[in-house]
Amino acid sequence: MNIKKITGKINNVVDLSKTAKEISINLSEPIDFISGSFMNVFIDINGEKVRRAYSISSSSLENKNITFTIRLSPVGLLTPLFWKKDMIGEDIEMMGPLGLNTVDKMKQDKIYLFAFGVGAGVVKSIASYFFNQKNIKSLTILTGSKSEDEILYKDYFNSLSLGSGNVFVDHIVSRTREGSTIKKGYIQDYINEFDFNNSDVYVCGKEKACNDLVEKIKLMNPSDCNYFIEGFH
Ligand SMILES: Cc1cc2nc3c(=O)[nH]c(=O)nc-3n(C[C@H](O)[C@H](O)[C@H](O)COP(=O)(O)OP(=O)(O)OC[C@H]3O[C@@H](n4cnc5c(N)ncnc54)[C@H](O)[C@@H]3O)c2cc1C
Repeated sequence: MNIKKITGKINNVVDLSKTAKEISINLSEPIDFISGSFMNVFIDINGEKVRRAYSISSSSLENKNITFTIRLSPVGLLTPLFWKKDMIGEDIEMMGPLGLNTVDKMKQDKIYLFAFGVGAGVVKSIASYFFNQKNIKSLTILTGSKSEDEILYKDYFNSLSLGSGNVFVDHIVSRTREGSTIKKGYIQDYINEFDFNNSDVYVCGKEKACNDLVEKIKLMNPSDCNYFIEGFH
């Protein structure tokens, strides 16, 4: 990938949940990125240039407009801005695309995508890539969220599994509402039935959650299983 400095204008912000938003950016020039990439974003805050990394959540088929999916860190410096003021029309600087956990490294025809929280953003980009690959024999997508309202891109993921025999999608929530039929717990509580031999496993979200899940998979001793872990703090 050709890393470059690039500018863009925020042209849309969508509320995905109380704590997550999708930020859409119109780029000054197209970028070629591979799903799984992130960008370093620079925003001026009180005269200081603040840098944060955000994974691209849009499809790599669209290279003039990209999206980031961000989660509010209530005591953070940058993300609360998006909850405090209307950011549409703001110019931002970026550098990228960057990242090692990109789909070009994933060569198996059996793919597992596990998304914790806001990790669903980059998993959406990766899922859309594999959904369009003819050679993929099975694509399994599991999201793990705190509550049902916090399942990001639920309809999108579910739509991939509709009418497609080789796509399996499920959602796991740590706190369910009374009477809810959704699976309760953590992603790692629901992986025993999966065959991880000869597969690529992509995991994204909070670092600890990612590592706990991968440790659990490793206990199953799969052969020829490759791990792609994109952990955030
Ligand atoms: C490769 C990569 C990709 C990423 N992709 C995404 C993505 O797609 N979406 C996304 O939402 N994030 C992503 N992140 C994380 C993102 O870069 C930021 O770290 C995140 O948005 C928080 O930024 P912030 O400025 O709001 O918070 P920061 O100011 O960086 O603070 C982060 C956290 O530090 C703690 N903290 C900070 N100040 C205080 C304080 N005064 N007291 C107590 N605790 C404090 C809090 O827990 C706070 O939530 C990614 C990170 C990496 C490295």
